[in-house]
Amino acid sequence: MAERRVVIIGAGPAGLTAAYEFAKHGWKATVLEADAQVGGLARTVQYRGFRFDLGGHRFFSKSQEIEDLWQEILGPEMIERPRLSRIYYRNRFFYYPLKPMNALINMGLFNASACMASYAMARLKPIAQETNFEEWVTNRFGRRLYQMFFKTYTEKVWGIPCTEIGADWAAQRIKGLDLLTAVKNAFFGQKKGGAVVKTLIDSFRYPRLGPGQMWEACRDRVREKGTAVVHGMNVTGLRAEGGRIVAVQAAREDGGREEFPCDYCISSMPLRDLVLGLAPGAPEEVRKDAANLRYRDFLTVALIVEREDLFPDNWIYVHSPEVKVGRIQNFKQWSPDLVPDPKRSCLGLEYFVWENDELWKSSDADLVAMGTREVARLKLVKEQDVSDGAVTRVKKAYPIYDTGYQDRLDRIKAYVKTFANLHCIGRNGQHRYNNQDHSMATALLAVRNIAQGAAYDPWNVNVDAEYHEIAQTERQAPTYPKQA
Ligand SMILES: Cc1cc2nc3c(=O)[nH]c(=O)nc-3n(C[C@H](O)[C@H](O)[C@H](O)COP(=O)(O)OP(=O)(O)OC[C@H]3O[C@@H](n4cnc5c(N)ncnc54)[C@H](O)[C@@H]3O)c2cc1C
Repeated sequence: MAERRVVIIGAGPAGLTAAYEFAKHGWKATVLEADAQVGGLARTVQYRGFRFDLGGHRFFSKSQEIEDLWQEILGPEMIERPRLSRIYYRNRFFYYPLKPMNALINMGLFNASACMASYAMARLKPIAQETNFEEWVTNRFGRRLYQMFFKTYTEKVWGIPCTEIGADWAAQRIKGLDLLTAVKNAFFGQKKGGAVVKTLIDSFRYPRLGPGQMWEACRDRVREKGTAVVHGMNVTGLRAEGGRIVAVQAAREDGGREEFPCDYCISSMPLRDLVLGLAPGAPEEVRKDAANLRYRDFLTVALIVEREDLFPDNWIYVHSPEVKVGRIQNFKQWSPDLVPDPKRSCLGLEYFVWENDELWKSSDADLVAMGTREVARLKLVKEQDVSDGAVTRVKKAYPIYDTGYQDRLDRIKAYVKTFANLHCIGRNGQHRYNNQDHSMATALLAVRNIAQGAAYDPWNVNVDAEYHEIAQTERQAPTYPKQA
């Protein structure tokens, strides 16, 4: 039988997991990657010997298969790290997850009583129809706590008012949690799935040299098995004939164009770009739906600090509205080996932005200067201790769940599913605000459908997932759908 031509778009966790699973089935593939590095959003950037994530990446999955896969790829290079994360609000640190005494002391008796009264009000007179994030959270936590712990941070992250974020987003992210449950959990621990939740809270697994190490190792393994991972290939179009994708078109960095004929196409590129790049063109309404999918962009300012120890947290959520930074990573606490000199430290300041907004367009030097001022203002670091910095801009870091996105996504999904040999996987590939394990699970199922003739629906992996990279809630396992 002639060799089947498999083209995989994207060498992030989804694309590389697909290539890895194909290799296990004895299949080779061609992976097309626009960037010079593998790992996508989970890559590790290097600057003068310092290594940093684009936002810290915890490796956690309730799927044993995914945990085993990470172990299989990196073995003893996967380390276990203690976790501490706190919320910074009005010059005080609140433990996250909540610790009642700490919260009480920080708030003061008056403020804490006011929060309780506002919670009681919300329970007695809830907003009848919860249509947006603000209403959903207020009903469960009261207006005062919503304003303290949800509004500023959520709006920093998404760049739109909480009244424009759908209530279903909150329901998915903060599922099952209200003030009473949160307080009960803080006093008595979480009952459901106790062991796993405890592990998640107290420690996490992490590659010794950052998440990029995982994906670089995975790339090396698939290359050994004959798969090509081609960098600098920006996929711009997919050519279809008779309900199948017959070729993937890409623009090279030097301006040249290439076409890759295929029997199977697995895509982890953003769904919006994929649909708009289909030739012949998708129906007008599907194109319109795709054009209306939105993304939040992101940038990291890494600061090199001439201090051995800064603070014990792996990361700090910054709720204070007086600074723009949303979260601060302390990379040495993730793994001491991310920092080349034990006398120094490295912080990653996360800014949630729009591509081409004022921050995005600021020069690197201005961003490093702003980051330095902000950490000094938060009293985390002295300005004079920051000796250098580097900026990484990340497009389409977060697929946005704005009002109406689900209907748009359903219509797009129905259309892309009409192509028998096109398999959309991963975060932006499915417009799913996910973690690495979800992206990987979608890849495994897509490959099994192709190589084993299985009948999974990769779009249904982890439908109820909660996510904690931002929403600060713990999450559920990626559950695999039953075969149709
Ligand atoms: C700030 C932040 C913190 C996070 N924290 C965690 C965490 O703690 N734990 C965790 O598990 N997950 C975390 N995540 C999520 C994790 O990064 C993603 O789930 C994962 O990277 C998604 O993998 P993917 O392969 O689906 O997509 P991506 O990582 O986006 O990879 C897609 C790849 O496709 C390439 N590509 C895109 N378009 C094209 C094109 N047209 N042509 C060619 N190539 C293309 C991209 O360059 C990229 O390499 C975090 C994400 C962010 C942004």
